[in-house]
Amino acid sequence: MHLDARLIDDLSIIEGDICIIGAGAAGISMALDWISTPYKVILLEGGGFEYDDRVQELYSGKNTGQNYYPLKSARLHYFGGTTGHWGGMCSLFDPIAFQERDWVPMSGWPFSDQELIPYYKRAHGTLNLGEYEFSFNNWQQKDTSLIPLPVSPDIFWNKIWRFGMPSAVRFGTKYKDTIVNAKNIHLYTYANAVEIITNENVSAVTEVIVKNYAGKTHKVRAKHFVMASCAIQNSRLLLASGKQAPKGLGNNNDLVGRHFMEHAELKSAELWLKEPSKLKPYMRNPPNIRAELAMLPQKQAEYKILNGILSFNPLEHGRKKPPYIQSWDNEDPREDRKKTNEIEEKATRKGRFSKIFGSDKYDSFEITMRLEQVPNPLSRVTLSTEKDELGVPRANLNWAFTDMERKSARKIFEILGQQVGIAGIGRVKLLEDLQDEKETSMPASTSGGWHHMGTTRMNNDPKKGVVNSDCKIHGIENLYVAGSSCFPTGGAVNPTYTIVAISLRLSDHLKEKVKT
Ligand SMILES: Cc1cc2nc3c(=O)[nH]c(=O)nc-3n(C[C@H](O)[C@H](O)[C@H](O)COP(=O)(O)OP(=O)(O)OC[C@H]3O[C@@H](n4cnc5c(N)ncnc54)[C@H](O)[C@@H]3O)c2cc1C
Repeated sequence: MHLDARLIDDLSIIEGDICIIGAGAAGISMALDWISTPYKVILLEGGGFEYDDRVQELYSGKNTGQNYYPLKSARLHYFGGTTGHWGGMCSLFDPIAFQERDWVPMSGWPFSDQELIPYYKRAHGTLNLGEYEFSFNNWQQKDTSLIPLPVSPDIFWNKIWRFGMPSAVRFGTKYKDTIVNAKNIHLYTYANAVEIITNENVSAVTEVIVKNYAGKTHKVRAKHFVMASCAIQNSRLLLASGKQAPKGLGNNNDLVGRHFMEHAELKSAELWLKEPSKLKPYMRNPPNIRAELAMLPQKQAEYKILNGILSFNPLEHGRKKPPYIQSWDNEDPREDRKKTNEIEEKATRKGRFSKIFGSDKYDSFEITMRLEQVPNPLSRVTLSTEKDELGVPRANLNWAFTDMERKSARKIFEILGQQVGIAGIGRVKLLEDLQDEKETSMPASTSGGWHHMGTTRMNNDPKKGVVNSDCKIHGIENLYVAGSSCFPTGGAVNPTYTIVAISLRLSDHLKEKVKT
């Protein structure tokens, strides 16, 4: 059922078994999983069913580090969350993403990739990804024309991406009726969580305060609370909930908001071929799959570098597309999306992926790298002294790199260049922004993927993580976090598939907990 929190009596007390804060990819995936259970689920969504600029404005904040998108337009603040704008690219985090690597500080998840496989399979359904199949070889057996670049299989492998079938799932439209019609899911729109209140010794949450611009304030009480309002908001709300804990909730060890991670996107190299090619496996192919070139984990270990993967785009298209960091610059996310779509359509003349199934061959390709980031305590979300309309301190973001990101990017491009040379098929040209070997900072043209991760990192040691391996905040018995703020490292692929998977894992955990 659905209620608009602007229209109910002021100072209402809303009660349930589980309270989920945020109805985006994480929150809706969880809520769907509770339909038809005997439990009452309160789903709090700050916005309505449509874009509302007064709600979106609550996301405004300052960037103080590496050049980043306006915080107001880097996410969407209404039912369905940022899936209203996402591209739907989904792939598995590699096993190495979960491992402790002695050359990557703060690396290692409290479980291996195997723990997530059953949840990836369930997430596959939520995201409409079709058949669960990520093996390039198996796809190649079905389509023998998928001939990959002839680089050494001892160095590179072909990693498969999946996309929604037929297109990216927009949670706000696909799941609205299911959520609204579910008897035990009580969706409140215009219900912005502004503060989390605990008992006196800060060991349990007692209620969450919600507000909206209609001037209504309500209290929500539940046995268990889940924060699913995305990585910047999750940490912002914890830091702002300081009544009983002056440093912020879950922040005894000064970790909340730190280790903010993105995926660095670099358009810093070109592939020039002797013979024109379609590079078919790397374009979208039926039934909506695509490969990227990734470096084997043993080679990452040998070179002591981060994980980065490579995509290829015909150069004549790529050159017409500035890096996203230069074009996604409007405070209004709808304007940014429109502009980006227009640029992409112009670049490919007929539309973003029109060439893929065509016969065109090209002799030059832009190479884009998506690179994981070192979990860096200086890369962080903090609170501003300025407050939003509902009285919550705004977020400041300091996106910061170490010197390992640039070194890793250069190395991966260099090894690809060697391999292309050895295969005798052409050359790789490293562009100016990465040429200087002595430089340690990332180029100004570095984009992000709008992937926000790490601000409530997972570790079973409270000195190293905000949440434990069940995504529960250390020291608070009934407060959980769903989504990429829990990721200890960010892998080299987009996060939403893994966000849905770990949210479903949390859902299973809570189903056991709520019985007791
Ligand atoms: C242009 C673009 C392209 C992208 N492409 C991809 C892609 O191809 N693949 C991929 O994996 N990812 C992609 N992403 C990222 C993807 O959209 C996010 O990873 C995903 O939506 C995060 O899910 P979430 O549920 O954690 O957060 P969100 O989807 O942002 O949902 C958070 C929800 O919480 C609500 N909320 C916030 N604060 C409060 C509060 N205080 N009280 C109540 N409710 C609140 C919000 O209104 C929202 O509904 C893209 C993002 C953008 C912007």
